[in-house]
Amino acid sequence: MKFYSTNRSSPEMSFKEAVIQGLPQDKGLFFPEHIPALPSSFFEELPDMALPEIAFEVLKHFTAPDITPDALRAICKEVFTFPIPLVAVEEGIYALELFHGPTCAFKDVGARFMSRCLQAFAEPNKPVTVLVATSGDTGSAVANGFLGVANIEVVILYPKGGVSEIQEMQFTTLGQNITSVAVEGTFDDCQQLVKQAFSDEALNNEMRLSSANSINVARWLPQMVYYFHAWGQWRRQHPEKDAAGATFAVPSGNFGNLAAGVLARQMGLPVRHFIAATNRNKVVPAYLETGEYTPVPSVSTIANAMDVGSPNNFPRIQEMFGNNYGQLKQVLKGYWTDDAPIRSAIQEVKQQHDYLLDPHGAIAYLSLKQHLPVLKTDGIFLETAHPAKFKGSIDDILGSDIALPEQLQAFLNKPKQSGSIGNSYSEFAALLQEQHKLQSQP
Ligand SMILES: *Cc1c(COP(=O)(O)O)cnc(C)c1O
Repeated sequence: MKFYSTNRSSPEMSFKEAVIQGLPQDKGLFFPEHIPALPSSFFEELPDMALPEIAFEVLKHFTAPDITPDALRAICKEVFTFPIPLVAVEEGIYALELFHGPTCAFKDVGARFMSRCLQAFAEPNKPVTVLVATSGDTGSAVANGFLGVANIEVVILYPKGGVSEIQEMQFTTLGQNITSVAVEGTFDDCQQLVKQAFSDEALNNEMRLSSANSINVARWLPQMVYYFHAWGQWRRQHPEKDAAGATFAVPSGNFGNLAAGVLARQMGLPVRHFIAATNRNKVVPAYLETGEYTPVPSVSTIANAMDVGSPNNFPRIQEMFGNNYGQLKQVLKGYWTDDAPIRSAIQEVKQQHDYLLDPHGAIAYLSLKQHLPVLKTDGIFLETAHPAKFKGSIDDILGSDIALPEQLQAFLNKPKQSGSIGNSYSEFAALLQEQHKLQSQP
């Protein structure tokens, strides 16, 4: 598969080139030159297929010929080792639990897939430095997905004080090929620094930079897999229901996850609607309401992994609807909320259905409660993180003391190893150069 830039002024690239480069030179986003349609036999078999098998059937179209079928099969087996169950919460509403991986967040899927791809492409004498800006879960997923992978260095930027304690522990305690840096600023500042590094020609001549943010195709594409799996489970649980589609509610920040769902639909997955569910950072829901797309600085909320003021994957969604606002609006619905309803939803769903929502999933759940009476479909919301990742907020809301899952307990009491910088680019560039020097020493 070839990938073009959504800005259309950079050359097309192969999967391998797109993965290594991360971002086209014209600062668009890589997008597949055509979207394959999956055969009806695939959808008939889907309810009985295992995750690695689904992954292989979906992803082979995008990775060929750079990754051989055998290599892709092996990668899918290594990546999809944890369950992604569809759990009934109440009549017609289901949670797709994406938090059973090593760092308890959906980003494990993309980060693990990308690390195996980069490993397959890495050349012994040309180490790749992967840059990541994180508002919390990306950092931990990428750090753990890439930990110990040869010829790859990872540098993680995060807003000082802007991530939860548990999130911070998950990427600052690892050492080895993982470096983490606290930035005096917001997530958007971190993202800006990373973008600037990519457009710094001198720096790029010196070292090979790659991005593991959700803009990278190797993180973006594998996220399709669990939409197919969700539908397969739903069909198996409810063969009597109208197969023509459910509604997916996606808690969104940078909109990579939602963009993957829309791509799955383009490949033939029967989805009636998607809901772009956000916290007060409501650029996209506002756009759906008014037609005005106005990125603004992010504000912080209790669903902090979605505190994004300028969603960097949204152009991919526009691309899939041919940049046609009318078509987009038919499929994509918007929803946003303040913190207070999130807290109430967590309380009520625990009391009434004995299901524990995390703050991000709670927003998507609320969006279904608003839209389903009108849309008249079943609703599947993505539970993007384990509630225990936000233990502070959850315990506050419920007056509880929820247990940490094993994966998270493993990070406790390990010493933090992270540096810190202001939010100027010169400081960041100096740090990268210093690190590169150390790495290049025999
Ligand atoms: C990253 C993240 C999101 C937002 O996902 P995008 O793909 O950036 O829209 C939502 N919830 C959680 C828990 C996350 O970590």
